[in-house]
Amino acid sequence: MIVTNSCASRYCSFWSSPELERNEMSEFRLSTNVPAAGLSSEVQDAMAQLANLAERRAELLCPVRLYQDLIAVLFRRATGPAWRGFVASNATARLSAGQPLLRGESVEWDSDSFRARWFAVCDVLTRHREAGELGRLAEAVRSGVIDPVKAVHLMIRDAPRTVPEYFECRGFEARLAASVLRFCAMPSLAALVSGFALDAPRLGWSKGFCLVCGSWPLLAESRGLEQFRWLRCGLCGAGWQVDRIFCPFCETRDHRLLHDLFVESEESKCRVSVCDGCRGFVRGISTLSPITTPGLLVAELETLHLELIAQEDGYQNVTSLSSSP
Ligand SMILES: [Zn+2]
Ligand SMILES: [Zn+2]
Repeated sequence: MIVTNSCASRYCSFWSSPELERNEMSEFRLSTNVPAAGLSSEVQDAMAQLANLAERRAELLCPVRLYQDLIAVLFRRATGPAWRGFVASNATARLSAGQPLLRGESVEWDSDSFRARWFAVCDVLTRHREAGELGRLAEAVRSGVIDPVKAVHLMIRDAPRTVPEYFECRGFEARLAASVLRFCAMPSLAALVSGFALDAPRLGWSKGFCLVCGSWPLLAESRGLEQFRWLRCGLCGAGWQVDRIFCPFCETRDHRLLHDLFVESEESKCRVSVCDGCRGFVRGISTLSPITTPGLLVAELETLHLELIAQEDGYQNVTSLSSSP
């Protein structure tokens, strides 16, 4: 099915900040607050992609600026957490049993640096959104009402679906708090995943959820000239190859239930794959090589309109934390 109208401008309100008016768009430049020195080539590439995205799609200026600041903060000093209690030889058995590698395991986080990252993320988001709830989230960590390390333990060791209750019990909007938590955890988890050598196409993992952390996929890559399909996790950055005709949520491979929606003129780059079996959907993007972890945030932004297109056609976002495996 072809969708000819992009509704991209409609989601800008979620990200916009009052001071960012449309007449600023012509003045857009890569933020001068971002020091190129000290940023990895992956981060610099992501920054360039963001700048290019804003030039091509002016309606994305607000979220592009937010993501510029966010990526600069998150990946400036990514530190991998120390790893305990996981025996590498368990990996094959875990995967063949359908169990994510980190489920039930404890990752030792550096509490001080994790809290510092929490404050930094809240600060970035506050500059681009209303300060109220984000200010409360920062204060809650200072006062000990929220322990972000405990929350991330819940998300990784138990399951992402346990996280909303942790925040709601303490009087916070679970979705926003979980987003902050996700951003804080992402660089460290990505560093951890990079040591797992998961690029092998055949790991015996045929599930729709992440083989490392158990999250639903953020998007699907159609990778390389062969356009092999890889699902990518938006929390830890892991990727795993799946069949081209496959719904990650209900795991059907029935081609009669699966099809793609796309905006005319960008069908070779971005699509959203929808399932008439479970009404779920997953965004898709073509890429020659694996998307880097900072690049996943860019791809998330670039394909956001596809989510609205799918929802307008009656498909549901089933990737919320509360519905995670
Ligand atoms: Zn993951
Ligand atoms: Zn399905």
